[in-house]
Amino acid sequence: MNPRNRKQQVTRVFDGRTHHIALCRGFRDQLPVFGWGEAPSTLLTTAQLRDAGLRRNGQDPVALLVFRHQRPYARETVAELFSVELAAPKRAAAPGQMDHAMEARRTCVDCARVQDYCVPTSTRQCWDCFDDEQGGQVEAAA
Ligand SMILES: [Zn+2]
Repeated sequence: MNPRNRKQQVTRVFDGRTHHIALCRGFRDQLPVFGWGEAPSTLLTTAQLRDAGLRRNGQDPVALLVFRHQRPYARETVAELFSVELAAPKRAAAPGQMDHAMEARRTCVDCARVQDYCVPTSTRQCWDCFDDEQGGQVEAAA
């Protein structure tokens, strides 16, 4: 069934501070289901919270977001929505985690050597491997 064709229902959503009256597309697991851009603006997915420098802070989802991916195919995805009001700032990573993350960013995907600089995120290659590859292409073109 296409959720777009379903009649919208009035629901109440409590985000921890404010009771919102909103139109939803129905309910799933007792949670109101919203389409993209239809949920109250204080409700965010975990990815959106992360982008905003927040974490869900142990709260339960207050609603669900249903959307379709453009690519690779129009797959329906359901994401849990959390309240910005109940979220907390992201904890700073522990020193050990930080080292590990930094080492990953300095590791070349081609030669697997850990460099003393961060490899470009576009290629994930160290400059030696990048140069080798570029050199090869120039030679092949000549
Ligand atoms: Zn390399």
